[in-house]
Amino acid sequence: MQTHSDAVVPFVFESLPVRGALIQLQKSWQRMQLGHTYQMSVLETLGHAAAATGLIAQSLKFDGIITMQLSGDGPLAMLVMQCTSELELRGMASAPDLTDHASFAELVAQARCAITVDAGAMERPYQGIVEVTGASLADSLENYYAKSAQIPSHIHLVCEPSSCGGILLQQMPEKDSALEDDWRRLGMLAATLRPDDIAAGVGIDLLGKLFAADDVRVFGPRPVTFKCRCSKKRAEDVLRMLGEKETNAACAEKDRVDVTCEYCGRTRSFDTVDVSRLFSEHVVEGTDRVH
Ligand SMILES: [Zn+2]
Repeated sequence: MQTHSDAVVPFVFESLPVRGALIQLQKSWQRMQLGHTYQMSVLETLGHAAAATGLIAQSLKFDGIITMQLSGDGPLAMLVMQCTSELELRGMASAPDLTDHASFAELVAQARCAITVDAGAMERPYQGIVEVTGASLADSLENYYAKSAQIPSHIHLVCEPSSCGGILLQQMPEKDSALEDDWRRLGMLAATLRPDDIAAGVGIDLLGKLFAADDVRVFGPRPVTFKCRCSKKRAEDVLRMLGEKETNAACAEKDRVDVTCEYCGRTRSFDTVDVSRLFSEHVVEGTDRVH
């Protein structure tokens, strides 16, 4: 069995201008849920977002960060998923008012979805707006790629509490009209992917099972890890944004103020001395050290 966990497996079809990738997240996905109690419908959307963002990030041709952000007035107040071109992933969701199971459409009612591609300090980030439509995040992303990015794509995502994943198929530029039937056929096959198929990992065996009639060239797997980008400096920035008065008030209760990262759950404490230093005129900057 050639299967890989917490990995992306890129591939191309030998006789069709179609490339793709399979992703499976297990440890990274379970780590992302640590410290959070998500309703099943939120968990599913978060897992789909994790798999989709990983699939988009693996296609980056430069060093950068993909951020998918859903926010709205519906039950899903906020969902953020980030993946670097090194496939370091983090994400969280917030749906404080959700009490019952909700369908995807109910969850994301009036939500906006943006995908930001940040290529680093040298370039301005690019942002695409994804219209949240249809029955799933995958549908919305397929629409986005077809309309805005002009890259016909099939996306199918699966999620369970123990593992999540998905498949991305994209037409390569040398599109020929003879492809239509095959393209439809590949989309139907990709949509047969079930959570059980990826529970143990992804790889050449699964591709052989999904696309038994096609020659598929499989590239080496790339590992995906959970990694948070929070730092002491970012925690200090949170307190600076909160303001001196509010921070001092929070500090007065326990002689310290705690800033907990919503992504990884790490708490950084600042005592009264730290806080007065933070707001003093001669600010000594903390190091921007990523743990
Ligand atoms: Zn963190």
